[in-house]
Amino acid sequence: MARKMEQRLSYCLAHQDRPTDTRCAACLKPICEECTLTTEVGKFCGNECYEKRLQSNERIKVLKEEEERDRIPRMMRMLTGWALKILVLVALYFVFQTLPVAWKAWLTKSFKGLWKTVKSAFK
Ligand SMILES: [Zn+2]
Ligand SMILES: [Zn+2]
Repeated sequence: MARKMEQRLSYCLAHQDRPTDTRCAACLKPICEECTLTTEVGKFCGNECYEKRLQSNERIKVLKEEEERDRIPRMMRMLTGWALKILVLVALYFVFQTLPVAWKAWLTKSFKGLWKTVKSAFK
C-alpha cells in the first residue's frame, strides 16, 4: 500500500528525497513545500514561472480587450451597410420621380407585370 503511494507521488526536482503532489502551475515540475512559491494565481516552482504565467494572463487580457474593441467597429460597419442600402433606395426613388412620365408609366407597368408573375408563382 505504502509502495503504491510512493509510486504515484512525484519527487521535488531540487530535493529528490521529498515526495510531493504539488506541481508548478506553469511548467508542471513537481515541487516540494520548500520550493513552492505560492501566489494569488497559483503555485509555482519559482519567480520565472510566476512571471511567465502573469505574462500569459496579461496576453489573454489584451486579446479579450482587442476583441471588445473590435465589436463596436463591426456594428458600425453593419449599420453603415444598412444606411448605404437605404440611401441607394432613396436615391432610386428620387431618380424615379425625375423620370419623364412615359418612362414612369412603362416602369410601373413592367413592375406590375413582374409583381403579377411573382404572385402567380406563389399561388
Ligand atoms: Zn515552473
Ligand atoms: Zn524542493
